[in-house]
Amino acid sequence: MAHVPPHSLALAARVVEPTWRAAAACHGVDAESFFPPSHFERKPEKDEREGAARALCARCPVRPQCLEYALLVEEPHGIWGGLNELERRRLLRQRAAAGGDRAHVAKVGAAPTDRLEAAP
Ligand code: SF4
Repeated sequence: MAHVPPHSLALAARVVEPTWRAAAACHGVDAESFFPPSHFERKPEKDEREGAARALCARCPVRPQCLEYALLVEEPHGIWGGLNELERRRLLRQRAAAGGDRAHVAKVGAAPTDRLEAAP
């Protein structure tokens, strides 16, 4: 496969609606537990909210695709693929430290049609 610049993959991911979303366990579910509220949230409340979201993610058939998508577009908020934003940033740092680049991140889990359909 030809090298695709990371910024092109991120752009493609933003342009193309991921096809895996239709199979998501959270499809049609209220997103309340997946994203922080507009008001200040105490840690116990955050833990409870995220726990509910993670429980759904744990039995989601497209969890790997969801996580890789969130990593690819550097989704700044919410639970994606069972990880919150801090955990995703940590995972990206770990992968970068291990020598992975963004293109590698994109190749790992997302379905090809999710990632490359709109790439130039
Ligand atoms: S892993 Fe979680 S956030 Fe991602 S699609 Fe599945 S249920 Fe939704």
